[in-house]
Amino acid sequence: MAFVQSLKCRECHKTYPIEALHVCEYCFGPLEVAYDYEAIAKSISREKIEHGPATIWRYADLLPVEGTDYVSLGVGYTPLVKAENLGKELGLSDLWLKNDTVNPTGSFKDRVVSVALSKARELGLKVAACASTGNLANSVAAHAAWAGMESYVFIPANLEQAKIICTSIFGGNVIAIDGNYDDVNRLCAELASEEPTWAFVNVNVRAYYSEGSKTLAYEVAEQLGWQAPDHVVVPVGSGSQLTKIHKGFNELYKVGLLEEEPHVRISGAQAAGCSPVATAFQSGHDYIKPVKPDTIAKSLAIGNPADGFYALDVVRKTGGGFGSVTDQEVVEAMGLLARTEGIFAETAGGVTIATLARLVNEGVVRPEEKVVAYITGNGLKTVEALADTEGPTYVIQPTLEAFKKVYESQRSHQ
Ligand SMILES: *Cc1c(COP(=O)(O)O)cnc(C)c1O
Ligand SMILES: [Zn+2]
Repeated sequence: MAFVQSLKCRECHKTYPIEALHVCEYCFGPLEVAYDYEAIAKSISREKIEHGPATIWRYADLLPVEGTDYVSLGVGYTPLVKAENLGKELGLSDLWLKNDTVNPTGSFKDRVVSVALSKARELGLKVAACASTGNLANSVAAHAAWAGMESYVFIPANLEQAKIICTSIFGGNVIAIDGNYDDVNRLCAELASEEPTWAFVNVNVRAYYSEGSKTLAYEVAEQLGWQAPDHVVVPVGSGSQLTKIHKGFNELYKVGLLEEEPHVRISGAQAAGCSPVATAFQSGHDYIKPVKPDTIAKSLAIGNPADGFYALDVVRKTGGGFGSVTDQEVVEAMGLLARTEGIFAETAGGVTIATLARLVNEGVVRPEEKVVAYITGNGLKTVEALADTEGPTYVIQPTLEAFKKVYESQRSHQ
């Protein structure tokens, strides 16, 4: 049994029934899932979680789905790795990486989609749909295929080739739009009101979808031995993930899974070519001015972020920072992460690591803090970003002589 009480407006706190609703009809604020934490505290325990499945569903008591008939490809419980080499490089003594590149479709979006489509099925919605910057489309198409649901995914036409191919392979409908993500999103908001039986995972079932990101906090705390880190660095597109990581750590304390109240400092990472939230943070404004995205970090290219205001608020009140980094820094950071830790992340991961490096230099992230950087997507999906910088070290004839020649010249240069 789920412990969901209602949907609740984040602004005026008016409550709504558990349906496919996402905006408050009084103040147009976003709706969020509200839980009975006292009842959860009585049901949940570290032991129960540790005996649960090695997926996000080990935290089912804190997720908004009834029963156990989940739409899941085996999502979550990804590795949290101690990054000794990268830590040394950046001057951090206790750096960890949450490696979501190894989720079933290669990004953290599998977490939110597993929750959204499980709920959609429970609500009797028949068609899976989304407005996507790429990874969401990929995950929706895969989960819909597994669940036998029809799917319509909407993407900007200029996405990376791998993201388009890795989505269309699952046999759903992939609709490429001549426009940017914000155009795609606007179209989907219109469609969602015309097609009440469709589950637009990040539109009409967004309240449930976004809950999936809380598992990024739960897993980190459990993997650190039921302890919250001091500081986390999170890439920001819509800002949903960042706000839910914050909610997740606080919930663990509320239901008794953490002994001490967590004070996790939360920092946000954006690409300079699309940094509306970082810009508001740096200029001290509350208003997030929409921008037209122009960056290789396409999974973060949201010019008018739905949860930008809330992400900004979380970063400010937890004492974190915000960074925005150039595309060149992104590419360099992707290489640095790969060379030091053996993790091939997509451009969003480059944004996170490059921002972490900046925040260390600015003294926002402190050398001795226990820091977790969220690596949210797989590099195989954005190889275009590296086409100019990566390739074979040498190209030679298939002879011993040819190899010896390059080998010796390489040795003599060391
Ligand atoms: C979507 C996405 C993000 C951003 O998540 P939001 O909740 O939109 O802020 C970060 N990284 C990757 C790889 C993504 O696909
Ligand atoms: Zn309201």
